Amino acid sequence: MEAIPLPSRLRFSSLRSPTPSLLRRSLSLNATPFRSRSQCRPLALQRSDHDVVVVGAGIIGLTIARQLLLSSDLSVAIVDAAIPCSGATGAGQGYVWMAHKTPGSAVWELGLRSKQMWEEMADGLERDGEDPLDILGWKRTGSLVIGTTSDELVMLKERVRLFSQAGLRAEYWSSSSLLSEEPALEVGKESGAVFLPDDCQIDAARAVDFIQKVNKGFATEGRYTEFFNNPAIRLLRSERNGEVEAVETSHNILYGEKAIVIAAGAWSGTLMRSLVVNSPALPDVPVKPRKGHLLVLENFNKIQLNHGVMEAGYIGHQVTKIPKASLVSETIDEHSLPSISMTATLDSMGNLVLGIF
Ligand SMILES: Cc1cc2nc3c(=O)[nH]c(=O)nc-3n(C[C@H](O)[C@H](O)[C@H](O)COP(=O)(O)OP(=O)(O)OC[C@H]3O[C@@H](n4cnc5c(N)ncnc54)[C@H](O)[C@@H]3O)c2cc1C
Repeated sequence: MEAIPLPSRLRFSSLRSPTPSLLRRSLSLNATPFRSRSQCRPLALQRSDHDVVVVGAGIIGLTIARQLLLSSDLSVAIVDAAIPCSGATGAGQGYVWMAHKTPGSAVWELGLRSKQMWEEMADGLERDGEDPLDILGWKRTGSLVIGTTSDELVMLKERVRLFSQAGLRAEYWSSSSLLSEEPALEVGKESGAVFLPDDCQIDAARAVDFIQKVNKGFATEGRYTEFFNNPAIRLLRSERNGEVEAVETSHNILYGEKAIVIAAGAWSGTLMRSLVVNSPALPDVPVKPRKGHLLVLENFNKIQLNHGVMEAGYIGHQVTKIPKASLVSETIDEHSLPSISMTATLDSMGNLVLGIF
């Protein structure tokens, strides 16, 4: 890697810290703040050249890198403000579920394809003599979406019909079936559930470790490089044709000859807006953060669950609207949602994981 001097036009650009403060600060990025000389970045950044630069080392960024490494001969650099799993991926519950998605909705095909790719990965590990449970935390637990009001039961029965029509195995369980399969649940006689036997779960941290390990295997041939604790600050355009050609980070200028991919999760929208100051050329990315919490009860053996469990109210959180000018679906403003919903799973180490959304 060669050190290159920082062009004078970049010297006083705003320097933002890694997530999550990035999100807050980026709101005022169009105005370049004054910085004293001692606050300025070093004047030389390391230059590094690649075919593709991926910004964000969550499950999405690492998987994009993986796909490129496995299915092409392109070289890939991945850059993160912190380290893998420091974003939503590290907080995820690991459901690989169709039960809360609706056939025909904006995310349905994406969900199906995504689930299929996880299944292929698990099958591939098995074929290689590895245990997908050990490596990915992979379990085909099946999923239960539970309703407790008459409206919810009507909705769940209709969903069984829609799932079956879409070719998925789905069953409606009355409260007695539900209680005989999941005796630890306290649900009234008026409850019922949709059961999807083919829904699965992973352990996100294990899955990321595995993906990253495979990616790193390409480092020796010079096709994979990681730049962590190194936030992307802005995109740089070619002086020749005006096209985006590099990502400036706090330590580097990373050139991506073929593509630069922004996979910064909930920060993608603000990052896109802040990376290219005053440029109308890049599309608005309507990605918004949404709150979710996980409570992990380690070695909690007082409750045994045989499947992944979710309250029917969660389905309401999945309702999406499509902005007219965009093909990207946007999750509804969480403040307009009427309730919170809970989910529960036993992870691959036997911990009880409760999700609150
Ligand atoms: C509590 C909870 C439970 C969930 N449960 C599930 C579930 O069961 N099933 C499911 O499918 N999904 C679940 N999700 C959602 C899932 O976790 C996310 O959709 C997924 O992890 C998003 O991955 P990502 O790679 O897009 O984003 P992230 O994992 O957030 O990765 C984005 C990365 O970008 C980096 N970044 C940000 N800004 C910059 C910058 N300027 N420069 C460089 N890097 C930057 C961040 O540091 C981060 O590492 C859950 C989410 C939460 C919070």
